[in-house]
Amino acid sequence: MNKKLSILGSTGSIGKQALEVAKKCGFEVTALTASSSSAELEKQIREFKPNIAALVDEKAAQDLAVRVSDTNTKVVGGIQGICECAVEKNADIVLNAIVGMAGLLPTLDAIDAGKDIALANKETLVAGGKLVMDKARQKGVNIYPVDSEHSAIFQCLQGNTSNESLKRIILTASGGPFFGKTRAELADVTVEQALRHPNWEMGAKITIDSATMMNKGLEIIEAVWLFSVPQDKIDVLVHRESIIHSMIEYEDNSVIAQLGLPDMRIPIQYALTYPKRYESPVCQLDLAQLATLTFAKPDYDTFDCLAICKEAIKRGGLYPAAVNSANEQANTMFRQGRIRFLQIGELVGEAMERVENITDYTLSDVLAADRKARDFVMSKVGDTLSFIG
Ligand code: NAD
Ligand code: MG
Repeated sequence: MNKKLSILGSTGSIGKQALEVAKKCGFEVTALTASSSSAELEKQIREFKPNIAALVDEKAAQDLAVRVSDTNTKVVGGIQGICECAVEKNADIVLNAIVGMAGLLPTLDAIDAGKDIALANKETLVAGGKLVMDKARQKGVNIYPVDSEHSAIFQCLQGNTSNESLKRIILTASGGPFFGKTRAELADVTVEQALRHPNWEMGAKITIDSATMMNKGLEIIEAVWLFSVPQDKIDVLVHRESIIHSMIEYEDNSVIAQLGLPDMRIPIQYALTYPKRYESPVCQLDLAQLATLTFAKPDYDTFDCLAICKEAIKRGGLYPAAVNSANEQANTMFRQGRIRFLQIGELVGEAMERVENITDYTLSDVLAADRKARDFVMSKVGDTLSFIG
């Protein structure tokens, strides 16, 4: 397929799988970016020969520029460098596989430049959903979901021309490594235990988000923006096997589901080749061999992040941005061993109560809410540590 693709966050879990898909489909790769993984980015530059590449780390970018001076790839640094890659002029589509709300600015710039977006970076929509969707509409840009649940919903919605007959979205959730546990049992879980996801191999941040079920909460908000559906029409269903990736229920109670093995290369490829489908390296689904698929209700009391996200999108405005940023900060601190597992939800919930809401927000409002929520979590943890000490 003759398509030109830029990948932001190309050294991560989604980024690497996207490069695999690009290679198989014969896409030309126009830009690649990473935070600081310069050795991996150098390898990718040599193999995929993009026109431009960027590292957030300026010093690492300067070193890399010297190392690849024998190639035709221009290397730039900093957030502005990532944004330069997002608008690389030859690209038809930009896959955003950056982790966290750091992906928001490049997404907005890419849309401004008229690029279609394949979006894995859900935090972009959680933090700035209104900004992103308004801009996409203005520019006539398509946003294709990469997140497996949203890709499933998008696939189930093919042929549906309006939301009129759509009764509900059923967002499936694996439940993560701690499904069935009580809060008492979660009090002392370790980072290592939280990083052991039953079905998916992903980056560290989203793996912890799956353990707290914050990930599913973020996905409710992501679905609200992607599909223009109110949050009370989105239900979460625990499905341990991650075979049904999500479902749509129509007015007549007919339910349409999308199934497949849990492998991100399917949704990545569909976002890039839509509306066409091509062969994929992912194995065929053998339902007879699987024999059983199971379902359960989510536990909103134990997994408080899920309830907090529902509340945040119900309140609207800057609440989702603040909740997302508090979680990014708390998630990092948990991985650093600075807070306990259950503190993540507690901190995110408290940060939500400190939001000064603006419904018709601007980008600078989102950035201010982001700063405030992170500062709140950091100061709160500082207090706790000195209290414990
Ligand atoms: P990852 O940590 O494996 O990779 C993240 C990429 O972003 C890396 O290339 C990294 O260098 C880059 N990056 C990190 N911080 C950055 C910053 N501040 N500015 C610019 N670039 C930065 O993450 P991942 O698991 O690939 O997830 C990427 C996104 O896709 C996340 O939003 C995640 O929620 C979403 N997602 C991931 C999966 C999955 O299977 N991994 C599935 C669905 C959705
Ligand atoms: Mg998902």
